[in-house]
Amino acid sequence: MRFFFPLSLIYFGIVLNLSLVQAQTNSLNVNADRLTTQLKKLSTFGMNKKGGNDRVAFSDYDIQARSYLSNYLKDLGLKVYTDAAGNLIAKREGKKNSLSPIVFGSHIDAVPNGGHYDGDVGVMGGIEVLETLIENNIQTNHPLELIIFSNEEGAIFGSRALAGKIDQATLEVQTASGYTNGEGITRIGGDPEKVMQLKRRPEDVHAFLELHIEQGNVLHKNNLDIGVVEGIVGLKWWDVEITGLTNHAGTTPMNDRKDAMIAAAQFVLAVNEIITGIEGAQVGTVGRIAAFPGAPNVIPGKVITSLEIRDLDAAKIKMLFEKVEARAHELGEATRTTFEFKPIDATAEPALTDVRIQDIIRQNAIDLNYSHKTMPSGAGHDAQDMAVITPTGMIFVPSVNGISHAPEEFSTPEAIAKGANVLLQSVLDIDKINLN
Ligand SMILES: [Zn+2]
Repeated sequence: MRFFFPLSLIYFGIVLNLSLVQAQTNSLNVNADRLTTQLKKLSTFGMNKKGGNDRVAFSDYDIQARSYLSNYLKDLGLKVYTDAAGNLIAKREGKKNSLSPIVFGSHIDAVPNGGHYDGDVGVMGGIEVLETLIENNIQTNHPLELIIFSNEEGAIFGSRALAGKIDQATLEVQTASGYTNGEGITRIGGDPEKVMQLKRRPEDVHAFLELHIEQGNVLHKNNLDIGVVEGIVGLKWWDVEITGLTNHAGTTPMNDRKDAMIAAAQFVLAVNEIITGIEGAQVGTVGRIAAFPGAPNVIPGKVITSLEIRDLDAAKIKMLFEKVEARAHELGEATRTTFEFKPIDATAEPALTDVRIQDIIRQNAIDLNYSHKTMPSGAGHDAQDMAVITPTGMIFVPSVNGISHAPEEFSTPEAIAKGANVLLQSVLDIDKINLN
């Protein structure tokens, strides 16, 4: 990025505004063709007949891709190793190796029949940044560390290990590959016995950056180049149990029913009305519903639905939930049913990115003449766990039509190169500042 120093001098009552433009422009760019070629190469590991990506975490495809990338990174002259959580890590020395590293990266595992851009863009973009620095003989003060996290899609496993959030239960969770997390990390070179010792302290990392596809349609629809992510939304889930009275659908008059389904139908609409009733980017969803006993000729005496609320602000999630809960009790009275909310253990706290790093990303987008927008991330990412450890920033590039986790997932080579250029310049800027 370029630096502008607006300077105001008051001299004998005359205000002089001088804008000094420091001649520190650099025209360093990533090699967009090489980045495209590398993404294509990575997509061959797990490409299925539908054009989708079956490189689920710990699968043979995952192992083959990691081996390919490990060799590629070694050939660049980097120190490469796999940590106990199965994270593949490449290190480049800085001029001052007593400084903590600037870390960037993402994941290469996919959901079954997923796409070739989720995670891959951040990993290959990060490798391209390293390669650009190496071939231009630019050495940063801080060491640089590229991390290819393990099992992001299943449990956000590798980054959670660095945040110190893995327990025995997480190791035993079954993954899409058919292996548990513990078995899986062993397959890719990790060690379940030592995974709990990986926790990094704030002084171990200078900053973390993740380049990622948006996986939504905000940037593409608005024809924007770069998303400056202000945070990853937190989410809360509840089971909502609505109790009425089970009875005969033929013999019970309409005005004498306690129909839990009628209450549920009104509840679904009420959630939508409450969530959209105030300003902001919050989202709320009823995504699951089951009626009991569940027969065409029986009035449902019980309905269980889900409720999910997401926002960047935990207090707002709480406030919205309280509104939903209050309205549900009103609906219960009106329909002669009762509502009970049971929190489900799928809570994620909002993770905010660092405002100083947001500014750096935004300024680099401006300097590179890329349009940009500050926005939350509605999906979970490795960055949400890294944000617990260190000042974190996230750069989004547009997903065409907002499609993700599907074979149609696509971001243009130009859009990806722009994101990688912003990552490159942001790494160089973060190298120059104190983030304590
Ligand atoms: Zn991802």
